[in-house]
Amino acid sequence: MELSLFDTHTHYNHASYAPFQDRVLMGIREGGIGDVLVAGYDLISSLAACMMKEQFEGRGDAFPRIHAAVGIHPEYLPKDPEKDLAALRAMIEKYHPAAIGEMGLHFPRGKQLTEDVRARQMELFLRQLSLCEEYDLPAVLHFVGAAAKVYGIIERRPRIRGILHGFTGSAETAVCYGKAGWLIGIGPGILRENVKKLKEVCRRVPAEYLVAETDCPFGGTGIHSVAEGRPDSLQLKAVMEKIAELKEESFEEVQRTLGENARRMLIHGYREE
Ligand SMILES: [Zn+2]
Repeated sequence: MELSLFDTHTHYNHASYAPFQDRVLMGIREGGIGDVLVAGYDLISSLAACMMKEQFEGRGDAFPRIHAAVGIHPEYLPKDPEKDLAALRAMIEKYHPAAIGEMGLHFPRGKQLTEDVRARQMELFLRQLSLCEEYDLPAVLHFVGAAAKVYGIIERRPRIRGILHGFTGSAETAVCYGKAGWLIGIGPGILRENVKKLKEVCRRVPAEYLVAETDCPFGGTGIHSVAEGRPDSLQLKAVMEKIAELKEESFEEVQRTLGENARRMLIHGYREE
């Protein structure tokens, strides 16, 4: 069976890939990656994701299919949020991205954030969620040190679905959001020894609620292999193998289910069930 994995969270729009973009994408296609979501984190990277999608659409099977997400990451707070939100809206109308994100709240422990920064992150997050509602698009959520806040917000917006990217919560929480139609993003963190809670998530949460992601070049095992010409999405196979091992299911089965989950959310539309 031919391998066709879906990396549901990447940043191939990041400048570090620019000199090798073709080679990196060809390399991951050869390695069995059939689809990638390229997520924006500010206006420029969001536009770059949309351009990549257009650019690679006609280039055939040597490249993975590119799906774009447009959004503003909480660590990239704009100087003029109104202007950037208007530009984001224009991008959504022009390019019809697969999702909005990555967006969310970034309140890491040990980092002193002013009330003003927290409030601006919150406002930007809420406004992007409203765009999800308005355009019926899934959300790609990033949250660090703010899980309770994020859950409280999405519970009050029951129309929205999406991916809880880089999930670090408990299996119970994952099942609860899975049942509500959200997908739980499992990344290369699962390959580390010391991740008991995440392993528990993979064991106990039904595969129907999971997707696999690399967050490259930011995420993963710390191997930033772009510099060596080895693209990070190739870590996805190891992530899936680990999930299959933890679930005591076959790799083929996990690959199929997680791929279907990603396609339903990001391509076919989660409302058409
Ligand atoms: Zn990311």
